[in-house]
Amino acid sequence: MDLMEYQAKELFAKHGVPVNIGTVITETAAAAAAAEEQGGRVVVKAQVKIGGRGKAGGVKLATDPADAVAKAEEILGMDIKGHTVHRVLIAPAADIADEYYFSFLVDRANRNYLCIASIEGGVEIEVTAVENPDAVAKVAIDPQVGVDDAKAAEIVAATRFPAEVAEQAKDVIKKLWDVFVKEDATLVEVNPLVKLADGTLEALDGKVSLDENADFRHPDHEDFVLIEDADPLELAAKEKGLNYVKLDGEVGIIGNGAGLVMSTLDVVAYAGEKHGGVKPANFLDIGGGASAEVMANGLHIIIGDEQVKSVFVNVFGGITACDAVAHGIVGALEKLGDEATKPLVVRLDGNNVVEGRRILNEANHPLVTLVDTMDGAADKAAELANA
Ligand code: GDP
Ligand code: MN
Repeated sequence: MDLMEYQAKELFAKHGVPVNIGTVITETAAAAAAAEEQGGRVVVKAQVKIGGRGKAGGVKLATDPADAVAKAEEILGMDIKGHTVHRVLIAPAADIADEYYFSFLVDRANRNYLCIASIEGGVEIEVTAVENPDAVAKVAIDPQVGVDDAKAAEIVAATRFPAEVAEQAKDVIKKLWDVFVKEDATLVEVNPLVKLADGTLEALDGKVSLDENADFRHPDHEDFVLIEDADPLELAAKEKGLNYVKLDGEVGIIGNGAGLVMSTLDVVAYAGEKHGGVKPANFLDIGGGASAEVMANGLHIIIGDEQVKSVFVNVFGGITACDAVAHGIVGALEKLGDEATKPLVVRLDGNNVVEGRRILNEANHPLVTLVDTMDGAADKAAELANA
């Protein structure tokens, strides 16, 4: 999960990284009071999960509360590279003497962590890396050791932080490492990390990506999920513990196992070419246990997508045998009752397939069509979606 700047700064503050978070507002009218609270001379910053807000006009200085209202008016509702601005951050304007770049990230290729830092910050680091590669320091971090005093000193030396900020930089670097490790982040980026006119360092911007696999260790991270930015069906699926991704097409897909679901998407997209160009509507992996409850939860979510015209249930029975899956489907349709409104094409194969098909044939549900092959079922589902 990627965080907004103000959320990243909340984590920075929690671990002692110097920041001035400011106040988040969602309506222009609140800008005056927020600016007053933050000292009058403020910066108004669009909160969207995309970089380059400054260049796009999403970061503006305001001289006083009235000006903050004018700037908030301009920025709220703005579109920045496809992201609508629903919130702005009003923070005290910083007197910047120097801008640096700093980040920790996962270096998968080397099974390591990596620090990338530069004293030429503020601008896009990708540009600096191309035009002036010598100005970008890359320091490998052994996951077993982490960032201790020696590593922090090595990073400061490699980056060539000016002597007057070297001690502070070491301290900030260790605290940013705490954010990275203790919050289970996969990215912590500060651009710019600034030296203020009074010589102190401050994280003026922040980008943090959290590892969702570690969510169980961080119940507080749930607060970072912003409802109006998330797809409601994806939220509902997450609540039920389902692995669901909404796509743009018309054929709802349910399968067991990520590999099978992915190949189902391909087969449906291919079959759709002959049926008006219909496409898969989602990715939904119900995993190993295809119980009636899991099946009902999955169907409920897929049927809830208005774009869906037909549903393709593609299950290969393994440990959970086909008869259990068939009972799951019958039970799910019973559970859903009148809510089940869209045609279902079911393809079952694998362990106990004969019994599974018998159960579905016997139930003879008006919405269900049983097809033996994956290609045949994909074709039928595409045809129904195009009807
Ligand atoms: P980004 O463009 O999305 O990376 O947004 P940033 O938060 O990094 O802001 C972009 C640039 O605006 C920074 O590099 C600074 O040069 C400038 N900026 C941001 N906040 C302030 C501030 O408080 N005072 C001043 N003078 N400049 C700021
Ligand atoms: Mn930035």
